Amino acid sequence: MLHIMFENSDQSKTDLSELGEFGLIDHLTKSFNITPEFTLKGIGDDAAVLDFKEEKVIVTTDLLVEGVHFDLSYMPLKHLGYKAVMVNLSDVYAMNATPRQITVSIAVSNRFPVEALEELYAGIKLASKLYKVDVVGGDTSSSTSGLIISVTALGGAKEEEVVYRSGAKTNDLLVVTGDLGAAYMGLQVLEREKQVFKVNPKNQPDLDPYTYLIERQLKPEARKDIPPLFKALEVKPTSMIDISDGLSSEVIHLCKNSKTGVNLFEEKIPLDPAVISVCEEFQLDSTTIALSGGEDYELLFTIDQGDYDKIKGNPNFTVIGHMTEEAEGMHLVTRANQKIPLIARGWNAMDKKEDKK
Ligand code: ADP
Ligand code: MG
Repeated sequence: MLHIMFENSDQSKTDLSELGEFGLIDHLTKSFNITPEFTLKGIGDDAAVLDFKEEKVIVTTDLLVEGVHFDLSYMPLKHLGYKAVMVNLSDVYAMNATPRQITVSIAVSNRFPVEALEELYAGIKLASKLYKVDVVGGDTSSSTSGLIISVTALGGAKEEEVVYRSGAKTNDLLVVTGDLGAAYMGLQVLEREKQVFKVNPKNQPDLDPYTYLIERQLKPEARKDIPPLFKALEVKPTSMIDISDGLSSEVIHLCKNSKTGVNLFEEKIPLDPAVISVCEEFQLDSTTIALSGGEDYELLFTIDQGDYDKIKGNPNFTVIGHMTEEAEGMHLVTRANQKIPLIARGWNAMDKKEDKK
């Protein structure tokens, strides 16, 4: 049975002041190793020294703020650490590049004990191990309110391999990896259970039917398999973006950057059966959730029509539409074969918390 803690459990509490800033940094980072091939110097000097050989350097950063981007009452700190790394690695893969290093900066209030930060760093360490990136630095500060965590990822790619948002052409196929909407519905389930928990803290919910959705929300995985798959299939996407804010806004980003229009087919949008059933339960339209839900961390890309045979039948990919002339506009073609204008509704617009993101 899937158990979610609706409060981070910190049985033992060591006050942050007991270690001091330098002691804390040392304590949290002492077990981080480096890959000598790409990292000449990691944590411990004034700056890290990196080696990208003949590759171009890809850099991306994301800031996560407690109460805005995450809620610690149902986000275990280990998961938060893991997710903070994933959101950045996803951006590196979306450039068709390989992540090599990350830096991690945190601001914490003294309501967090050392044990809480150990949990956070356990998640960061697990992510860096599984995704083969070195933690090469960061910064540590105190915060007067919540927890703030900023991760920067560095990656490498040969110049000719880099894929931008801007390369899509008319008639290119629009393709997505995986399935959409699950992370958003996982959040809905967690929010609902949190409300139940507030009323009756003894009630341990049975979340088994929602395992996939909750995992997609709490433990997203960046698509590290996709850039090497492109290489193996000898396909280079003409444009690419990762899906962090919902399919519709990402499709619009590709169109605007590439100066194209699009026809996106509702019936093609890949949905997991668990998303379809939970949408029925919550009386939500699953297409709307896939279009606007966000946090899927799948990749959305375009390929030349001539490359279709190379991706055809691959279970990682679903063709969901094609690019058109810019003047034709951006449309969703519904199951009833109606063409409706595609509008950007990131998950911020859907959420009750107005200032989300
Ligand atoms: P400086 O005074 O030059 O900012 P710090 O004492 O803040 O140096 O950091 C010492 C070393 O520890 C540096 O290598 C820095 O990148 C690293 N570091 C500091 N905070 C963190 C953190 N939260 N996570 C990982 N590395 C950190
Ligand atoms: Mg510092």
